[in-house]
Amino acid sequence: MTQRIQKLSSLLANQIAAGEVIERPASVVKELIENSLDAGSRHIEIDIEAGGLRLIQVRDDGFGIHPDDLMLALDRHATSKIKNQTDLEQILTLGFRGEALASIGSVSRLQLTSRHGDREGLRLSFDGNLQKEISPAAHPVGTTVAVHDLFYNTPARRKFLRSEKTEFSHVEELIKRLALAAPQIDFKLKHNQRLVKHYLQAHSQAEQTQRLATLCGAAFATQAIFIEAEGAGMQLSGWLSLPHFSRTTNDLQYFYVNQRLVRDRLISHAVKMAYQDVLYRDRYPAYVLFLTIAPAEVDVNVHPAKHEVRFRQRQVVHDFIYKSITDALAKLHEASSSHPITSPSQPPSNIEKNWTPPEVQAAMAKNAPLLSSLPISIQRQMPMSTHHACTMHAVEQDRQPLGEARFQLQGIYIIAENSKGLVLVDMHAAHERIVYEQMKQAFDSQAIVQQHLLHPLTLHLSAREADVAEAHTEFFASIGFTFSRMGVEQIMLRTIPEVFSGGPLDVLVRDIISDLLQHGQSMRAQREIHRLLGTLACHHAVRAHRILTVPEMNALLRAMESTDRSNQCNHGRPTIVSLSLADLDKLFMRGR
Ligand code: ADP
Ligand code: MG
Repeated sequence: MTQRIQKLSSLLANQIAAGEVIERPASVVKELIENSLDAGSRHIEIDIEAGGLRLIQVRDDGFGIHPDDLMLALDRHATSKIKNQTDLEQILTLGFRGEALASIGSVSRLQLTSRHGDREGLRLSFDGNLQKEISPAAHPVGTTVAVHDLFYNTPARRKFLRSEKTEFSHVEELIKRLALAAPQIDFKLKHNQRLVKHYLQAHSQAEQTQRLATLCGAAFATQAIFIEAEGAGMQLSGWLSLPHFSRTTNDLQYFYVNQRLVRDRLISHAVKMAYQDVLYRDRYPAYVLFLTIAPAEVDVNVHPAKHEVRFRQRQVVHDFIYKSITDALAKLHEASSSHPITSPSQPPSNIEKNWTPPEVQAAMAKNAPLLSSLPISIQRQMPMSTHHACTMHAVEQDRQPLGEARFQLQGIYIIAENSKGLVLVDMHAAHERIVYEQMKQAFDSQAIVQQHLLHPLTLHLSAREADVAEAHTEFFASIGFTFSRMGVEQIMLRTIPEVFSGGPLDVLVRDIISDLLQHGQSMRAQREIHRLLGTLACHHAVRAHRILTVPEMNALLRAMESTDRSNQCNHGRPTIVSLSLADLDKLFMRGR
């Protein structure tokens, strides 16, 4: 016998709908606070008991609900926020589906108390199946929603909840996300009657930075730059971490589109690309960014919890974000290299340690590659610069903005003189950038030059490492390495990238394998390959404490002039600091 079709009860229909958006206490908190924000509130108080399982209460001073609408507020598909399809395409409120209260009401015991203007205050109690009850209640203008015993009638859901502590930490994180995008609103959060968080209203820039520090930590607030950009009908504002404040996870990345927090691959890609060349390897930038865009340009109705959006003109949005951030980061470097004295010095020491393991440093110190075997482009540059030496001095100075090398300080810095004054160059950092750019170019044009080893070299690896290497033979070939598997724990190298001749091959190959292990198939993405080239470049760059001759130093300066982004190393530290004569005069308080 076939089953017949029947209509679900409205309770069951609501519970099914709730399944999509009300996953845990934090999702209730989100829906309620979003309603308070949509109602123009200035103060929002959140009371949580037992991680939200016993009580979630949100009280606001917004415009409240008209007494005649109170009953409707709990109906599914009942909303004051849109009326027709045109409105649906122009959404500026956080809610619009009219489903949240109905969903929450179907899986809890809910009380909604509200006062609108000078109308009387009313309370509506709702208990799943039971009748809605309305009674008068004293309440200032605004609304309070109390949600008791979440999931009491859907035990399956309740089973998926974690400890009170964990659920409360989800609530905290959620409030943080909402509070970041609503700086003018005062938030108070209590857990089991104890005040846990209080985010004060922030109006001025200083107050906003203070609030950012409270929400995201003082370290981020002091090491972030505020950006504001406009173009293509959009605005982007917010905070970006300085490149050296990178993180090992993507846990400090908040992106809002018209005040709504979204996770969007297009956006994270744009940001990642903008940081690509100033961040090292497995580091993530931190940011809190707000994009303002015409509501008609973005569809917010594509995800149950509205975490995702769809842009009408994807490429335009991507390019705008990419460009705004790239420009902001580029300005940073101009600023840091032209005001070396006043800019706060950021200790790079931890990063420094990060990217060159001690054993590599030791190996490199012993086995320092000769500069003559180093960057091909430096050698190509040298005849050029001797040729130009015959031309007029002034012209030369313009063509060589980094000037003439004069001296090497402590084996670390090159001191040069140009037409404006003094130029200081961090030799290792600069060289690393040059090698990196060069490798990128060579790789992108498939021009990595291979060198055959006279005597094939046997590398001893773990079985797992050897397996990974073997599985990525093609990739290794694309960067100049060819080898054959000789045994469970051995491979034999036959060719290597020429640019790496003289380096410690075993360390390098192992590093590449560990990159592959971590990033797997995504290695094929250009970004991952660039990271890897970063590893190569770092190993390959001339080490500090190498004594360079003046022609070698000049060759390095010329190579820098012809290299993109050579004013910063791969980790975002400056490679060049210039001091004009005027700067020097100031230092010596010398009037002219
Ligand atoms: P939506 O937010 O999608 O409209 P909800 O179910 O969340 O749907 O809320 C239904 C309606 O109840 C809202 O459209 C709004 O008119 C009213 N409402 C809910 N919460 C509040 C509040 N805190 N202040 C004022 N009105 C509210
Ligand atoms: Mg809502």
